[in-house]
Amino acid sequence: MAKYVFVTGGVVSALGKGIASASLGNLLKARGLKVILQKFDPYLNVDPGTMSPFQHGEVFVLEDGAECDLDLGHYERFTDVNLSQINNLTSGRVYETILANERKGEYLGRTVQVIPHVTDEIKRRIKLPAKLDPTVDVVITEIGGTVGDIESLPFLEAIRQFRLECPPEDTASVHLTLVPYIETAGEIKTKPTQHSVAELRSIGIQADFLICRARQLIGEDARRKIALFCNLPPERVFDGQDVRSIYEVPLNYHQQRMDELLCERFRLETPQPDLSEWGRMVKLIVNPPDHVRIAIVGKYVELKDAYKSITEAFIHAGIPNHVAVEQVWVDSESLEGEEVGDRRLAEIFGGCHGVLVPGGFGDRGIQGKVRAVRFARENSVPFLGICLGLQCAMIEMGRNLVGLERAGSAEFDPDSPHPVIHLMETQKGIKNLGGTMRLGAWPCLITPGTLAERCYGRREISERHRHRYEVNNDYRERFATAGVVFSGTSPDGRLVEILELPGHPFFIAVQFHPELKSRPNRPHPLFRAFVAAALAHQGAERNAAEATS
Ligand code: GLN
Repeated sequence: MAKYVFVTGGVVSALGKGIASASLGNLLKARGLKVILQKFDPYLNVDPGTMSPFQHGEVFVLEDGAECDLDLGHYERFTDVNLSQINNLTSGRVYETILANERKGEYLGRTVQVIPHVTDEIKRRIKLPAKLDPTVDVVITEIGGTVGDIESLPFLEAIRQFRLECPPEDTASVHLTLVPYIETAGEIKTKPTQHSVAELRSIGIQADFLICRARQLIGEDARRKIALFCNLPPERVFDGQDVRSIYEVPLNYHQQRMDELLCERFRLETPQPDLSEWGRMVKLIVNPPDHVRIAIVGKYVELKDAYKSITEAFIHAGIPNHVAVEQVWVDSESLEGEEVGDRRLAEIFGGCHGVLVPGGFGDRGIQGKVRAVRFARENSVPFLGICLGLQCAMIEMGRNLVGLERAGSAEFDPDSPHPVIHLMETQKGIKNLGGTMRLGAWPCLITPGTLAERCYGRREISERHRHRYEVNNDYRERFATAGVVFSGTSPDGRLVEILELPGHPFFIAVQFHPELKSRPNRPHPLFRAFVAAALAHQGAERNAAEATS
């Protein structure tokens, strides 16, 4: 019988419930337990695949092609476990299932209602991971949104019923709240936390563990007060103070014995975890011996969550390289327009030792991205293009290296005389937007003797995708003649997955999203090599500066 943890949040959103859940998962795994994490989101989209990154941050993609909430990225990174489509549920998906059943007549003439039909479906999904894999010890389910929202009520009601149906030692409710510091009063306030726990209790769920998100430690007096008002022993009220790196959170929780107390509640005998390796890693992240600066040229730069996995992949890649990667966000639209000449570009990218062009959709900022590629290519600045970044590299080199006037992508330039990026036949008839792209893990074969092979150290790889458009094979030969090497393709050779430019110190672009598979303990080989190349570039610059001084 698996144990079930439910993570909810109150007072405000954006408390970091995803990191808290992932950290708990990390600790339980370190105690030898098999842990699966899942996220239930109360919104009505069937999945976040059709949502703009401005709304909800990055869409994370799993091996099986599920388009998920970005918290699943944290779960995978903190527990080093690949999740699947069953681990992300939305109200939209719940209703989709129920309405399909209703149309099939499966409710035998009964009125279909939130209780019991919606709550039954949610309870079925709570149990599903452990049902499909009986070796799972703990299922951690995070509920999106904030306690008190109308939308999340069916989820909380399902949890209430679920807890009632299990022995008390089989479930635990973990609640996160905000403990604000009021500047004018010069003190922290516990009232919002009391209200939030009371609200949860009024739905029928007593919090078993409370994590107080605060700028600093809340202190013993506040802890006792919160414990008293929230009906908890003080040792189950935890500090969730702000940290320098999210990877510190498991260490903080462990220091407060959260994993031990949780196992005690579950009556699970587990050994103390060995967190020494994780601790060493965190030390390097928060006290890096050196820095390197990399420009990220995108269109969602105001919202860092839109590129969450890239940010994390750089943190991971910094570890073996013994540096912190300082990310310089460049709005691709700011690189457009007549007035932005070579001098201006040099100013913008001055001091950056690498340029990354990430994925994206639509035509906004494309010309700016193309300029960024050109700058990196012509100035021997290490370059990594991801998905749309590869497509922009094809456009740039098509125009400026191969000599194809107005080379473009069919996505945003349907009249281009040279559509070097186009829609594959298989994508042409598709009208629906949800879940219809090339999604999830696809195999790729790497050409021997290439930069790609040096990065990966292997020839057979598998990477995650999320895109509709592809390199147009009609142009491959012309690009090859101009010096571009298509160093990775699908096993049948028909889909270009990686391209590179020999002669340039580091110029590589990929049709997939390497950032989705990077883990702190296993940095992605491309990011690792890219950061190493940026470091080499910085070293060369420093030497040149010393020589002239
Ligand atoms: N918009 C491009 C496509 O659909 C690239 C997508 C991406 O970068 N994820 O092919």
